[in-house]
Amino acid sequence: MISVKGLQKSFGQLEVLKEVNVEVPAGNVVVIIGPSGSGKSTLLRCLNGLEIPNQGSIEINGTSVDFSGKVSQKQILTMRRLTGMVFQSYALFPHLTAIENVIEGLLTVKKIPKKEALSIGEQLLERVGLLAHKNHYPVQLSGGQEQRVAIARSLAMDPKVMLFDEPTSALDPELVSEVLKVMRDLANEGMTMVVVTHEMKFAEEVADEVIFIDDGFIVEKGEPAQIFREPARERTQRFLSLIR
Ligand code: ADP
Ligand code: MG
Repeated sequence: MISVKGLQKSFGQLEVLKEVNVEVPAGNVVVIIGPSGSGKSTLLRCLNGLEIPNQGSIEINGTSVDFSGKVSQKQILTMRRLTGMVFQSYALFPHLTAIENVIEGLLTVKKIPKKEALSIGEQLLERVGLLAHKNHYPVQLSGGQEQRVAIARSLAMDPKVMLFDEPTSALDPELVSEVLKVMRDLANEGMTMVVVTHEMKFAEEVADEVIFIDDGFIVEKGEPAQIFREPARERTQRFLSLIR
């Protein structure tokens, strides 16, 4: 579903991603771990078309973009539509209710009639356990509920891949599990997912593969049990000892 080859991304002189290669088969969940500033968000943003890599290629669901040549706006838009992204801090529109947030893209981007969009929106809110809150504004929702609405809103665009960038990092501890549950359900339904998270228990249970990235390099990747219990690299061991 995703094939990243030789990806390189610099900001000015700073090389943030160096020759990154990632393969994600359809229906798999890849969890990315690594220190702050190692390039995790940049990698997700490249997959989502929010950053343009300097070198390498990204293929998603058969659509390939080679960044060594000229890249058109149309190619970037195609990548953006194939991927849904959920960020650390929920970015709901404050002046729209939960359901209005969920259907916003259906109305404006997909031009779906309002009645049909509302019906899809209700199904999606049901899926994240928030149908009863459909008319609540973001200020009336907890952080965990806002994140679940943000997930429903991403799903509304029918992405082939879901990208999560530390989706629970800004939440109070008691709200983390409700968001992880929605993500676990999605994984069980066969969604292809790339998740940056420090939730190691979630990674152990849900990930097909864990990638440890440091300083723009993939230091090590493998099954969660291997990475967490018998990391091969000293850098991985050091990082894991710091976070648990
Ligand atoms: P992570 O998500 O692993 O914490 P990031 O991908 O956000 O790391 O950042 C990797 C490095 O790239 C950091 O040194 C960060 O300061 C730098 N960086 C990220 N985005 C930009 C940007 N838009 N301009 C300049 N530097 C950036
Ligand atoms: Mg980040």
